[in-house]
Amino acid sequence: MTVLVLGAGVIGVAAAWFLRAAGHDVRVVDRREAAALESSYANAGQVSAHLADPWSNPSTLKMLPRWLLQADAPLVWRPRLRRDQWRWLALFLRECDRERYSRNLLHLAAFGYYSRESLRALRAETGLRYDFHRGGILLFHREPAAFDLAAAAARRLEAHGLVRRVCSPAECARIEPALAHMQDRIAGGIFSPYDETGDAHQFAQALARLGAERGIRFDFGVTVKRLVQEGGRVEGVEVEHADGRREVLRAAHTVVCLGPFATALLAQAGVVVNIYPVKGYSITMPIADEAAALRIGITDAAVKVAFSRLGNRIRATSTAEVADFDLSIDRRRCEALVGHVQRLFPGAGDASRAVHWAGLRPTTPSNLPYIGKTKVPGLLVNAGHGTVGWTQACGSGRALAEILAGRRPEVDFPFVGAD
Ligand SMILES: Cc1cc2nc3c(=O)[nH]c(=O)nc-3n(C[C@H](O)[C@H](O)[C@H](O)COP(=O)(O)OP(=O)(O)OC[C@H]3O[C@@H](n4cnc5c(N)ncnc54)[C@H](O)[C@@H]3O)c2cc1C
Repeated sequence: MTVLVLGAGVIGVAAAWFLRAAGHDVRVVDRREAAALESSYANAGQVSAHLADPWSNPSTLKMLPRWLLQADAPLVWRPRLRRDQWRWLALFLRECDRERYSRNLLHLAAFGYYSRESLRALRAETGLRYDFHRGGILLFHREPAAFDLAAAAARRLEAHGLVRRVCSPAECARIEPALAHMQDRIAGGIFSPYDETGDAHQFAQALARLGAERGIRFDFGVTVKRLVQEGGRVEGVEVEHADGRREVLRAAHTVVCLGPFATALLAQAGVVVNIYPVKGYSITMPIADEAAALRIGITDAAVKVAFSRLGNRIRATSTAEVADFDLSIDRRRCEALVGHVQRLFPGAGDASRAVHWAGLRPTTPSNLPYIGKTKVPGLLVNAGHGTVGWTQACGSGRALAEILAGRRPEVDFPFVGAD
């Protein structure tokens, strides 16, 4: 069966891989010149199955009034005259409800685990290298009250199979020796020992190369213009090549993996999804002093900054800016990230060579992605992975291949059109 995958971010490339492995004839199109040059390019690198809480949670709701007035708040709302933005906000606030948040968290954890194991199996099969490290992720708190709440939640979540170890400041310093210098400023940490880190961009490019060797056709520099619909089915898409030439590509199934751009294309077929772009920033700098550098994934809960060690580089990311598709880089935000690296890991990185980046998280109000069959025959969706698209890429691709084969993936997750 021919399957057309729209978008070659980490989600589209992984989907193409699993669809090809299931025996399909797979073709991927992307408007950029290579894989993973947009949202998947320079994210935090954390493959976080058990430490990924949805942003829509009761404490966000509590902090929101203060953040709206704070210039360097981790969450920034820039009002636009866009109905979809306001609708998204209303749905986001609804998902902050405690019951909904708990349900979303458990789905994210179950799916994160399924995906992390799928990534590991893929790595074992292919020997792929992408600056990954299997050392776990440590989230540390500076405020005792916030730590106590996080520790109580970790103990509660244990009953649901989430591995979140509660650590004293000394244990945090043992797990990540680069934090030892500030041990007296840490209230405690939550450690997810089986999570890992790795470069999503390197992963997607390496997997695309291997996929091409195994028969996946990649067409770069090709922009999807519209869905081709005949007799109530989606039969493919009309694309525009770099030279302006238009062409219709036909397939038995079309999978939309366009990240934040999925909403508009799906709407052409009357499929409504609530995926809105939420901008984040990252900086990446080379390591200057190996002994001072972090080894594992770290999150500083007080300032909501995530750090990763990617080979001989340090990456730091933060900010959720709900504006629109604007990708301009706020230098002050990036310089603040450089400052966080310098304070947390003094002397570890070469700040003079820090590279700034901004990307759009394709975010749903619940942070759960849309994966599965839409109501329109021939049209599938795999988009809206928000803060955890790298974590969920392999699981999403594997689940999609299962759904296309008419099977329910073996994970407790609300797939689209699977029930
Ligand atoms: C600052 C930041 C930090 C993050 N940290 C983490 C993390 O630590 N862990 C984690 O799991 N996730 C993280 N994420 C989230 C993760 O990066 C995203 O969820 C993921 O990259 C989304 O992948 P995607 O393939 O859906 O989107 P994209 O990578 O954006 O891919 C979509 C593709 O569609 C193509 N496209 C769009 N429109 C068209 C068109 N009309 N025609 C043809 N092609 C088109 C684009 O060129 C692009 O290649 C982070 C994100 C950000 C911004």
